[in-house]
Amino acid sequence: MKIFLNGKLVEKEDARVSVFDHGFLYGDGAFEGIRAYDGVVFRLAEHIDRLYETCHTMLIHLDMDKQGMTEAVVKTIRANGLRNAYIRLVVTRGDGDLGLDPRKCKGSPNVIIIADKITLYPDELYRQGLEIVTVPTVRNHPEAINPQLKSLNYLNNILAKIEANNAGVPEAIMLDGSGYVAECTGDNIFMVKKGELKTPLQGRLRGITRDAVMELADSKCGLKVSETLITRHELFNAEEVFLTGTAAELIPVVKIDGRMIGTGKPGPVTGKLLKLFQALTRKDGVKF
Ligand SMILES: *Cc1c(COP(=O)(O)O)cnc(C)c1O
Repeated sequence: MKIFLNGKLVEKEDARVSVFDHGFLYGDGAFEGIRAYDGVVFRLAEHIDRLYETCHTMLIHLDMDKQGMTEAVVKTIRANGLRNAYIRLVVTRGDGDLGLDPRKCKGSPNVIIIADKITLYPDELYRQGLEIVTVPTVRNHPEAINPQLKSLNYLNNILAKIEANNAGVPEAIMLDGSGYVAECTGDNIFMVKKGELKTPLQGRLRGITRDAVMELADSKCGLKVSETLITRHELFNAEEVFLTGTAAELIPVVKIDGRMIGTGKPGPVTGKLLKLFQALTRKDGVKF
């Protein structure tokens, strides 16, 4: 496997960063999870834009411009002979000293691109739907670490994931500080009711899969689409609930906190949106 590391393609064994890297010491960095389908990197420009926005807010200055970053992603996929891939793009603050002050990271940020085969939820979970629970750990306050940042500081989500693991379910619903539904540990959440598709307005990352699904629901399904405040009560009484993310695409949810959702089986709107999304992934992106 070839890994892109600071401008060079190196073997996996040689793809190493220093123990003084602040991404390692402090989770001080940004990342993207990207997917390629049959020779198309789905919405790569949107991923790159989001990465640069995260870096801008974190005051991480990349030497590479967006065009260079786009080419580096494509080059890494090609070097590994992949047509379908999951790509992890990681930018860290770089090497500093043991203190947290980013001014001590005097060199360039470390830029790492890994292109691998994708690992997915098992097929039966798409057919049967997920059972999930709400967990006690709330999503980060936007003025602490804004969930809009796709940062390497993932402890908020990991603590929630541990709570899901302890409950014996594959995902966790996280609420925001006000008690409204925010998102899951690595996926956005949607509900369908009476011809309307709703997704949380705040406390969540603005997922690229989420945006695509909202566009498809509006343009191809005639659904009314809104970003709004959602309570657990509304989710429990939805006709359908599903999660979205680059790796998961769209995955149905059939039980939340012991309450059956709709008929208890994956619903027709979720199924239709998944088909439309999968068709879009082969068209909308950077061809290689
Ligand atoms: C990456 C991520 C998502 C999903 O975003 P996509 O762009 O659709 O992959 C949702 N929530 C969190 C916390 C994430 O890190």
